[in-house]
Amino acid sequence: MYRSHTCGELRMKHTGQAVTLSGWVQRSRDLGGMTFVDLRDRYGITQLVFNMEVDPSLCLEARKLGREYVIRVTGVVTERSNKNPKMPTGDIEIAVEKLELLNASKIPPFTIEDNTDGGEELRMKYRYLDLRRSPNLKNLELRHRMAMETRDYLSSQGFIDIETPCMIKSTPEGARDFVVPSRMNPGQFYALPQSPQTFKQLLMVAGYDRYMQIVKCFRDEDLRADRQPEFTQIDCEMAFVEQEDVLETFSGLIHHLFHAIKDLRIGRIPKMTWADAMRYYGSDKPDTRFDMKFTEVPDLAKGRGFSVFEEAELVVGICAKGCGDYSRKQLDELTDFVKRPQVGARGLIYVKYNSDGTIKSTIDKFFTEDELREWMRRFDAEPNDLIMILAGETLRTRKALSELRLEMGNRLGLRDPERYEVLWVVDFPLLEWDEETKRFYAMHHPFTSPKPEDIPLLDTDPGAVRANAYDLVINGVEIGGGSIRIHNKELQRRMFQVLGFTEEKAQEQFGFLMNAFEYGAPPHGGIAFGFDRLVAMFAGADSIRDVIAFPKNNSGRDMMIDSPAPLDEEQLKEIHIRLREGI
Ligand code: ASP
Repeated sequence: MYRSHTCGELRMKHTGQAVTLSGWVQRSRDLGGMTFVDLRDRYGITQLVFNMEVDPSLCLEARKLGREYVIRVTGVVTERSNKNPKMPTGDIEIAVEKLELLNASKIPPFTIEDNTDGGEELRMKYRYLDLRRSPNLKNLELRHRMAMETRDYLSSQGFIDIETPCMIKSTPEGARDFVVPSRMNPGQFYALPQSPQTFKQLLMVAGYDRYMQIVKCFRDEDLRADRQPEFTQIDCEMAFVEQEDVLETFSGLIHHLFHAIKDLRIGRIPKMTWADAMRYYGSDKPDTRFDMKFTEVPDLAKGRGFSVFEEAELVVGICAKGCGDYSRKQLDELTDFVKRPQVGARGLIYVKYNSDGTIKSTIDKFFTEDELREWMRRFDAEPNDLIMILAGETLRTRKALSELRLEMGNRLGLRDPERYEVLWVVDFPLLEWDEETKRFYAMHHPFTSPKPEDIPLLDTDPGAVRANAYDLVINGVEIGGGSIRIHNKELQRRMFQVLGFTEEKAQEQFGFLMNAFEYGAPPHGGIAFGFDRLVAMFAGADSIRDVIAFPKNNSGRDMMIDSPAPLDEEQLKEIHIRLREGI
């Protein structure tokens, strides 16, 4: 028997019992007459004690134990004279009678502690050691619990878990595909799914009216902190539903997860239209933990001869409460912030409402004090508030002000990670115009249904068509998104036309789906949640890498197994691939 108990289990009530434990040596301390060893496993840490007076040779053996050695001990649970209230097992220790080395260990390249001395790269190379650390362990346990709760909940709602293939043909979701060459079909390739989108729709045609899957998806995109080339979605689809039914069902899932995992009741999840989100927050994923909404002031700004305002498509600002006393240095910092290329504003205009009621601004030359007082009223500003204004082209200005708003939220401590504000953003535009290629792209994907009342606009003003599409946003992070789908072959064909597909191209890529639509496709819709992001949000982690057992780094590499890697000549030949000269 390797163990009678785990290293996290023993308490005062076990004193006097003979037990056997196995685990890793966290550390050992030599106090002359006594040697203490902290023994660790997944469940916790238990202190072992070896007494020189009782058994000198055993004690000498214990002194030889290095960090991360794997041992088995047998001994008696004893009350500690020096209790450690910080450890769940801190009231007891094991007076060891038998020690057995199960395996030695090299000195680990970094300490296996909560605050380790190992840098990111080293920890990723030795991820199996990194995973021994308790923050990682807790994150993966949380991930497991969230997956279980999700499956249980959706199963209780009649969803069935169905696996879809990983070797498919490309599904256009806007990213590049990872491809897999076929040995048996020379010159042909599978693609790894960017999502099971078409399959889940085919399952609806097949009559499996509630489908779910916690599934790996693959997208060959540039990587960021919240992106990985392979990531996991909670993917769902339902038949005979309207948008409201989908939102209701998945509000249920989100409520359940907050309740079951965090013991929080989050209340009814509000809805905001995409147009309002853009207008008041400049973002389709607003952080609604704090207010600071945008105020547009075209009428106040124009006609006073200030060229920045005169030439601008949009003049819009925010009011930062209690920042009226910001120093020159602080204001310069904010100006530099908005001018950063990632933010992209040309400059920052501010109006300070001083505590003594006077007003000071960068636009004094163009506006009278009375006029500026009207600005204050419009922004609901009080003495000691600061109004910051950006002007320019609408989309760009909104995006920049959105960044500034978040920056102010950070500075003012308004983005409390312990608070959760959940939101549905609805009525997304169906299409997005791309200036470079001069064509429309589907904002969500080409299977998303337009709002029925907007269908006529497809012919006259496609950019104005709204979709039955929705996103779930938590604390300013897009956690999920979905839509009601097109289930009518003609409408789907029309959509492909608008997206610039020729009839042949549409048939070649999606013939299987359009054909299926001829065999009694029910009305349907669904959603997918980014599971890694959801877990990271619940874990309070900075990056989704922290909640993935074996993540890839920013260049898409697995540092541990050293992948991707070249293939040898023989393997390449087998899959009919010849590399270009120089690669
Ligand atoms: N397949 C979509 C995505 O991955 C989600 C959905 O529409 O259900 O974003």
